[in-house]
Amino acid sequence: MLSLTSATGNAHKAAEMAEILAELGGITLLDRPPGIPEAVEDGETFLDNALLKAFSIVDATGTPALADDSGLIVDALGGDPGVRSARYAGEDATDAMNRTKLLAVLEELSDRGGERRARFWATVVAAFPDGTAVVADGVVEGRIASAAVGDGGFGYDPLFIPDEADGRTFAELSSAEKHAISHRGRALTSLVEALRHQGRL
Ligand code: IMP
Repeated sequence: MLSLTSATGNAHKAAEMAEILAELGGITLLDRPPGIPEAVEDGETFLDNALLKAFSIVDATGTPALADDSGLIVDALGGDPGVRSARYAGEDATDAMNRTKLLAVLEELSDRGGERRARFWATVVAAFPDGTAVVADGVVEGRIASAAVGDGGFGYDPLFIPDEADGRTFAELSSAEKHAISHRGRALTSLVEALRHQGRL
């Protein structure tokens, strides 16, 4: 078993990662210790930010760490909100505020024939005290609904209709259904494969 300290301060993300890893086996995910300041996510890519977050925990704890940087990429918005998904409607934005802003912006665009194609992206990083890291990505294609539907999940889930489901949003799927096709499920599956391949698991 490989123990990794969680770098995420987002409780929803941490819960999803724990569920997915429990299913995959091989990794014990330890809670992010309290009192460590949040890393400043000023990277320009998901990879930059995932590395920043993972190594901030390695540096603070001296233990291997696991970070996820993820977000929603909307074609009609040139890839926004992207790496700024958590802060789309402002630094202290709630998930609901971010969803409201996204719907309003797309509403304006659709008046001009805009399109709602989108994907969720996740980059996950396992970082080690010797300075090495193992990285994996996951993506799920879909489109943005015209209104929020469903109570499950978090973030933009009520607005995201994955191509691989039956028209339901991520927020209407069970956790198991979401993890089977989600960016995070795919990224963590690849990460576990890479760690096994490298003999770290
Ligand atoms: P991060 O902490 O910078 O990686 O923020 C990621 C943000 O992207 C979250 O706060 C959500 O707004 C959004 N996001 C990432 N993954 C998901 C997901 O699985 N469902 C819904 N929103 C997500």
